[in-house]
Amino acid sequence: LPLPPGRVTARRISKSFGGVPALAGVDLEPRPGRVLGLLGANGSGKSTLCRIIAGEMAPDGGELLLDGEAVRFATPKDGVRHGIVIAHQHPSLAPDLPVWENLFLGMERCGLGGFVSRAGSRRAAWHMLQAVGLDIDIDQPVERLSAAEQQLVEIARALSREPRLLILDEPTAALSAALVERLFAHVRALAASGTAIIFISHRLQEVEALCDDLVVLRNGHRVGSWELDGSLDEARVLDLLTGD
Ligand code: ADP
Ligand code: MG
Repeated sequence: LPLPPGRVTARRISKSFGGVPALAGVDLEPRPGRVLGLLGANGSGKSTLCRIIAGEMAPDGGELLLDGEAVRFATPKDGVRHGIVIAHQHPSLAPDLPVWENLFLGMERCGLGGFVSRAGSRRAAWHMLQAVGLDIDIDQPVERLSAAEQQLVEIARALSREPRLLILDEPTAALSAALVERLFAHVRALAASGTAIIFISHRLQEVEALCDDLVVLRNGHRVGSWELDGSLDEARVLDLLTGD
């Protein structure tokens, strides 16, 4: 079957650090219009896999396919150019820059996100931050924000790039239940518009509430994957996570 347009697939990805394998031939097939939950204990390889998919890190083996064609990303900008965007587990913000300018980090070449004026960019940033629930002074340095607020800036930045594949790496760790619900509403709307989403979380209830598909990693191996139909077999997941 031909792949739908804009589909990114990872095949048999492997990666070692200092001779220690972090990923051992892992496949991942995020599907447009669906949310793929990626579960695994700390150190199981979730972030490494996602960074490879986004072009932030080269794999030792395996390949990325874009609409079925092998692609190589030399830099993270190549990933972004192909519409692959990560909201990192640990926000990668410029601490001394104003909150609003952080939304356009790495987009300098298109002039603060392609808006015609600084004022236009700033206004667009304000709307994006409001949309994720961040009602704050956007002119202050981002380092003054709390951990939760910085996470929301990182998320707003990713959402604003209209990705075809959006990767959310443990986005909810610092967020209140109300902010999580607001984020999920956005993620569902993005999925409904055809975006593929990878959602990494430790919280099984969140995965159950948001995800259409599930992949479980253990020690760099993909040990389970299935479609969710609104409910999650918690015992099965826990067995896979621990290897019992
Ligand atoms: P997860 O996101 O599931 O917690 P990671 O992908 O961060 O797991 O890490 C998988 C393994 O790879 C861990 O053993 C981790 O220590 C190692 N690792 C990840 N990134 C690096 C790196 N840049 N340098 C060395 N080791 C790394
Ligand atoms: Mg991680």
